[in-house]
Amino acid sequence: MKTRPAICQRKRRFATREEADAVALAADVTLRVYKCALCKAFHLTSRTKGLRPPRAAQASAIVQAP
Ligand SMILES: [Zn+2]
Repeated sequence: MKTRPAICQRKRRFATREEADAVALAADVTLRVYKCALCKAFHLTSRTKGLRPPRAAQASAIVQAP
């Protein structure tokens, strides 16, 4: 995915996909994680087309939390 520099600077950055996945799963809206070609970190996006979903294991862990 191509990312504009202005978009990159505005977005949150995550060092690992796991960290970004955890935030995506905790959000109220559907988010997906992608690796940014500009900063080499991970960003979240609400555009889900063509991007893989967060890990199911982490999703179930959150659902089961009291
Ligand atoms: Zn970036």
